[in-house]
Amino acid sequence: MSEWLLAAKSAAESLVHFRGLLEALRKLVEAGAPKDEIVQKLKEAEQQVSSAEAHMAQRLGYEICRAHWPPVVMLEKEPRLWCCPECGRQVKSATLNAGSLHTESKWRI
Ligand SMILES: [Zn+2]
Repeated sequence: MSEWLLAAKSAAESLVHFRGLLEALRKLVEAGAPKDEIVQKLKEAEQQVSSAEAHMAQRLGYEICRAHWPPVVMLEKEPRLWCCPECGRQVKSATLNAGSLHTESKWRI
C-alpha cells in the first residue's frame, strides 16, 4: 500500500475517532455538564487531532519533534535539514526522505 493510501487510511480512522469525541462533547454541553468536564473533552480532542496530524505527517515523509507531546511536525528548512516551528530544534536526516513532498511524483497516487 502506498504511503499516500496509508496516510489517507490513518486520517480517516482519526476522523472517526475525532467525530466520536465531538459527539461526546455535544452531549456534555447539552446536558449542562460542568465546565471542567467540557474543557477536558476539548483537550482530548485537541490531542487527538495533533497526534493524527503528526502520524500522517510521518507517513508523508516529514520529521517530527519529539520534544513535545503530542509531537510537532517539523518543517524542511533546506534539503535534509528539519526545523521545529515551536522550539526551533533542528534535525539533519542522513538521506533524502523517500516520502519527501519536494518531488512532484510523490503527489501522484
Ligand atoms: Zn520542538
